[in-house]
Amino acid sequence: MWIDTHCHLDAPEFGADHALTFEARQRASERGVGLCVIPAVMRANFDTVRTLAHRLGDAYALGIHPLCVPQAGDDDLAALDAALTAHRDDPRLVAVGEIGLDFFVPALCTPEMRERQAFFYRAQLRLARRHGLPVIVHVRRSADHLLKHLRELPVAGIAHAFNGSEQQARSFLDMGFKLGFGGACTFDAARQLRRLAAGLPLSALVLETDAPDMAPQWLYVTVQARAGGRAQGINTPAELPRIGAVVADLRGSPVEELMRATTSNALAALPRLAALEAVS
Ligand code: ZN
Repeated sequence: MWIDTHCHLDAPEFGADHALTFEARQRASERGVGLCVIPAVMRANFDTVRTLAHRLGDAYALGIHPLCVPQAGDDDLAALDAALTAHRDDPRLVAVGEIGLDFFVPALCTPEMRERQAFFYRAQLRLARRHGLPVIVHVRRSADHLLKHLRELPVAGIAHAFNGSEQQARSFLDMGFKLGFGGACTFDAARQLRRLAAGLPLSALVLETDAPDMAPQWLYVTVQARAGGRAQGINTPAELPRIGAVVADLRGSPVEELMRATTSNALAALPRLAALEAVS
């Protein structure tokens, strides 16, 4: 089976009452996706991701996303700590995430916001350590900064949507991380990323869709076409096996082998998944 290590199945794109979520999840199951990990992005969706994970038979993570830091208050960290404590025995709670640093969005790059992001990131690394959970990390133009804080507050996990240099990739691997690959590496133009997906050790890779975002090439609608009225395709976990086939092709290895390896890598990165995998 496949594991989608990162999909936001609670996103508004999936409709009111998550109508499309259930449909998409069913399609993913039919294509062999056994487990999905649904990361939270802010305090307001902690309950939603937990409830959804239970209804779908999947897993979830709790955390405050760097893009949500501007709206977050210090008491949200206390709320996160309380939620991690309250659900510590929930086998579906597998990580602290999505946390990290985003140095791409201009509004997040002012000196004050960079500092605020680092404050939330470090506080959440400490929570992960205290609660004995791995982390799911958002990396955008921030790999070196993420690594610097991780060296001071070591905890393993997944670098989601990894898109850095080979050197940065190696540094994450040295810290006990797996690297998340998804729709981005299905684009012919993503040469550096495709080189990484092809050349890194098989033990480094986990797969993810980041649904509903990061549409793979076959769903992507160009800016011009969107201007002409065509809607952007919604990415779902059902695309994961095809993304896996692209990665296998880039590596020149059988799809089956890539599936087995990425699944066992996901279980290594998020050990609590193992208990869920056994029953799914
Ligand atoms: Zn995400």
